[in-house]
Amino acid sequence: MSAEIIDGKAFAAKVRGQVAEHVARIKADHGITPGLAVVLVGEDPASQVYVRSKGKQTVEVGMNSYEHKLDADTSESDLLALIEKLNDDPAVHGILVQLPLPDHIDEDLVINSIDPAKDVDGFHISNVGLLGTGQKSMVPCTPLGCLMMLRDHHGSLSGMDAVVIGRSNIVGKPMAQLLLGDSCTVTIAHSRTKDLPDVVRRADIVVAAVGRAQMVPGAWIKPGATVIDVGINRIDKPEGGTRLVGDVDYESCAAVASAITPVPGGVGPMTIACLLANTLTATCRAHGLDEPQGLTA
Ligand code: NAD
Repeated sequence: MSAEIIDGKAFAAKVRGQVAEHVARIKADHGITPGLAVVLVGEDPASQVYVRSKGKQTVEVGMNSYEHKLDADTSESDLLALIEKLNDDPAVHGILVQLPLPDHIDEDLVINSIDPAKDVDGFHISNVGLLGTGQKSMVPCTPLGCLMMLRDHHGSLSGMDAVVIGRSNIVGKPMAQLLLGDSCTVTIAHSRTKDLPDVVRRADIVVAAVGRAQMVPGAWIKPGATVIDVGINRIDKPEGGTRLVGDVDYESCAAVASAITPVPGGVGPMTIACLLANTLTATCRAHGLDEPQGLTA
């Protein structure tokens, strides 16, 4: 068997197109332009690339982008004061604080200072609770992108066995909640899971979110399963230089699975597309407008 490749790049372009259409409509009908504020503290090179890319795509879908770049030694209280200002600013519908933050800043405190209605990353404790209890919330972007691809591929996920490898707050746990919300039977595996190959082999859906290059071989995959690879790992190429790989061994898994996301070009592009979708959703909720169809959980 050779798996169908789930093209996250093309899917993300489609989502951005839907967002842009909706943004144009609410601008024309209501004179409202969604605004996304991104806050970056320090000069982490990877974070700078993400923030640039987010800003560019925000503008491309017709939204306003507000970038706040702060020095690495910015105090926690100055950062909290900026967030308070953004919470009160009616032109800002979404706030994203790029993680990780420098060590002297309490990440949880900062995340929980964001107005939950503007928390487009879905990390605020209120949104975590709302998602966990099946209520309307802001949903973390990466798992939302995975869910959209799974729904698009399968239609209904009801009754499927899903294994999520990884229990982080930003990917593993919300992913499991979303799959449960779509009536999968969900197992969360992690670093202490006994006999991981056996657990993974039971799954119709495998979501790998570990951060270990190519750790899941095809031999662990049930024939015909769908594999969603969240991992982004840089490895050395034998001929020199580096390349990006996921948490699954792509070649051997693609030989057994019925569908698989590549790295790069799978989950990655969907994450920013979902950030834009969340910003649009937050804008619609703030103004009591109809929410976009198919862009939320
Ligand atoms: P994390 O480090 O917070 O969590 C990793 C999880 O993997 C932990 O829960 C841990 O228990 C589990 N784990 C570690 N070793 C394991 C093992 N041997 N067997 C089973 N489980 C094990 O990571 P994260 O933030 O959830 O990110 C995971 C990966 O996804 C990383 O590669 C990250 O770069 C990537 N990521 C990608 C996107 C995207 O947009 N595509 C977004 C977020 C994260």
